[in-house]
Amino acid sequence: MSNPPDYDRRSAPQRRQGFSTRCVHAGETLDSQGGIHSPLYNHSTFGFPSTRALMEVVEGRTEGNLYTRYGSNPTIRALEKKLADLENGQSAYVFSSGMAAESATILSYCRAGDHIICLGDVYGGTYEFLSENLPNLGIETTFLIGDETGAVERHFRENTRLIVFETPGNPSMDVLDIAETSKIARRAGVITLADNTFASPVNQNPLDLGADLVFHSTTKYLGGHSDLTGGVVIGSADRIRPIWTWRKNLGQMMAPEVAFLLSRSLRTLSVRVRAQSATAQAIAEFLAGHPKVARVNYPGLPDFPGHDIARRQMRGYGGVLSFVYEGDAQVTAKMVDRLKLFTIAASLGGVESLVTQPITTTHHSMAPEERARRNIPEGMVRLSCGLEDTDDLVEDLRQAL
Ligand SMILES: *Cc1c(COP(=O)(O)O)cnc(C)c1O
Repeated sequence: MSNPPDYDRRSAPQRRQGFSTRCVHAGETLDSQGGIHSPLYNHSTFGFPSTRALMEVVEGRTEGNLYTRYGSNPTIRALEKKLADLENGQSAYVFSSGMAAESATILSYCRAGDHIICLGDVYGGTYEFLSENLPNLGIETTFLIGDETGAVERHFRENTRLIVFETPGNPSMDVLDIAETSKIARRAGVITLADNTFASPVNQNPLDLGADLVFHSTTKYLGGHSDLTGGVVIGSADRIRPIWTWRKNLGQMMAPEVAFLLSRSLRTLSVRVRAQSATAQAIAEFLAGHPKVARVNYPGLPDFPGHDIARRQMRGYGGVLSFVYEGDAQVTAKMVDRLKLFTIAASLGGVESLVTQPITTTHHSMAPEERARRNIPEGMVRLSCGLEDTDDLVEDLRQAL
């Protein structure tokens, strides 16, 4: 490994508590019974002693609890404080899924006639939303990949409103320069929206690098145990505010039980993702030396094309990697079927290791020509490293290959 991850490097100039400390403590309060962290309020609605007290909250003069779909629920609010803190943002809104967070954010910033630029590889659902759903509303997207992402300025139009990107990108792990992209966008008055699901805030904070908004599928690393579905968008208070009515009126609120579970998971986020990132690095190095493997995509490998940018903007390189097996779809499927510890499943970020062929899951609905343009071959395999012992995972891969 060319450079050890420096998890204690501060991204904010002022001295703050370390990331692990904030995972445990940010947003937490003792509950009224002395319970050691914020309790679960499952309630859909909250009562008031008088009409005057109700109006104080309805008219926004005091922060109070009103109705859970609006987000005015103490369990939701405690979680949002923690998430905003971990991404170095002012405000966060949680949602019923990552796609809910993303779609509400895009809808609150774009209207009919607007134009979006999508940079690099993105999650299949993001691609489908931009390419199939938004054109029905009169919102057009230009998709730039590979070298084209360096020439984003040339694709700006009068009506360009938003740049959407994901780094590292799914499934080729392409790395995009967040600071450079954000600078170019800001000059043109275009808003940047970064999907930070793969890196997690343990490894990367896009807001510190100049992005306007960051979102996550909390279903992945933030939840971390493959037992919840959720999403979040984080940014400055001003940037976040317009999204509130969209979440409320599209009814995309996260359930309080899920919020409670997610807060629980976040307390161990730092130790989980550091261990997963170290395992992914070891597996990437093992695969890079294997004769049946044509290519390994992992930002932590010194000869990976995006390595230098990743070194600048990430503290660690994450727990996901992909590789290209020497074989067509069927031969590759047989190899995948021989794996015992890696379970065949879509998704990532949980404590259990998962394996998927992008052409069977995340990129199944993408047209073959578009897959070819994006260099996603039949033999591509994506691994999400869990918390098993690294040696056991390497042995499993060795016997399957
Ligand atoms: C899973 C995922 C999403 C969508 O999140 P859901 O919680 O499934 O709605 C978006 N972006 C990335 C990178 C993802 O991995």
